[in-house]
Amino acid sequence: MSASNVAGSFNVAKFGGTSVANFEAMSRCAAIIENNPNTKLVVSSACSGVTNLLVELANGVQDQGRRQELMNQLTDIHHEILDQLAEPMSVEKEIHTILDNVASAAEAASFQSSAKLTDHLVACGELMSTHLFAQILRERGVSAVRFDIRDVLRTNDAYGKAEPQLEQISQLAQEKLIPLCQEHVVVTQGFIGADDEGNTTTLGRGGSDYSAALIAESVLAAGLEIWTDVPGIYTTDPRIAPKASPIPEISFSEASEMANFGAKILHPSTLVPALRHQIPVFVGSSKEPEKGGTWIRQQVESSPLFRALALRCNQTMVTLRSANMFHAYGFLAKVFEILAKHKISVDLITTSEISVSLTLDQTDTSGGAPELPEVVRKELEELCTVEVEHNLCLVALIGNNMSESKGYAKQVFSTLEDFNLRMICYGASPHNLCFLVHESVSRSAIQKLHQELFEQE
Ligand code: ASP
Ligand code: MG
Repeated sequence: MSASNVAGSFNVAKFGGTSVANFEAMSRCAAIIENNPNTKLVVSSACSGVTNLLVELANGVQDQGRRQELMNQLTDIHHEILDQLAEPMSVEKEIHTILDNVASAAEAASFQSSAKLTDHLVACGELMSTHLFAQILRERGVSAVRFDIRDVLRTNDAYGKAEPQLEQISQLAQEKLIPLCQEHVVVTQGFIGADDEGNTTTLGRGGSDYSAALIAESVLAAGLEIWTDVPGIYTTDPRIAPKASPIPEISFSEASEMANFGAKILHPSTLVPALRHQIPVFVGSSKEPEKGGTWIRQQVESSPLFRALALRCNQTMVTLRSANMFHAYGFLAKVFEILAKHKISVDLITTSEISVSLTLDQTDTSGGAPELPEVVRKELEELCTVEVEHNLCLVALIGNNMSESKGYAKQVFSTLEDFNLRMICYGASPHNLCFLVHESVSRSAIQKLHQELFEQE
């Protein structure tokens, strides 16, 4: 990014789908914005549930009745908000135009769907929510304008999982976005962008956190607030361990490990732009802003050995065995050459003298377990035996200086002595120790560890 950039020095606030689910929820977000005069840029998701409806339509719904049903649901969600505006007329036409657009794109998709058409369609959720959100702010006396982020958020044309073009985004933001933020509170869309030809693209499901971070980076924001439905980051998922406690402050490195290891609070890419420009990130609940939240920063006051426990299920573990590996060289290189050729991304890896175990990266956002494609298995089988195991979960203990501290591994593993640990990774990062367990015992592994490491005074 060029040195001539003008720093924004204001805050960017992002609101997720549940935060903008309806009129009441949006009004709560408006109050949060009003409470911080530094907030000049607002990034919004689609109203809760809308993207799912749009995805179904984009996949191609042949049954006209079902298509109408989905259209009715979309109309209802947005009309519920329109009906409570003091001046619905001011945005009604825009909403109806977008809904008409959805209906005709959905019909086209019922004949033939495509990734490009899907992005065009699913972007409509954010395009609608931002009209309504900006109007709610205006009716409360805020000088708010809606901005179409496709004029700034340039991406490549990988529809469904587009890559941001950072230089262009920065330049466009300097030109179009920063000046507007000097005068108004600007309300814009998360999740969506446009390629060089002006076609709508999306950053992938849940991508509006990432959008917000990219936008914050492009305006060199002083801070990024992510408002969601949980009051910050917890020591572990409170639905698993009810005594989990909120973490007031956490470093970028620890938070990145958590996001990577499945703490579903932030989209895993969110912290990358924030870290590049050292923009502090706040995570809080728009329903209970008074509860505070978590600050993620470069420098934090305390760096405890144990910070949090994360759980990621649907893991696929592949074990490759070959007697030829014994004292041989080049075996791993051949394995990775095959995996690389087929664009299979590896997550964890452990090796022994004659075998190597690895887990496959979750590359799509469907949430299902990644599969080892048959062609890849066949190629690997020319080299070694291949065993694939499913129904595994990854437990990650996140903390600080873990590779230099003595004695704690004993504490961790004796707590888990009754569990069958399938794979243990430790040593590569000072911030984590992780292992695989069978799905059926994963929650109790988290509960036991949390009790032992986080609930003792
Ligand atoms: N609305 C999009 C989704 O539901 C993006 C987001 O909310 O982050 O995936
Ligand atoms: Mg979301």
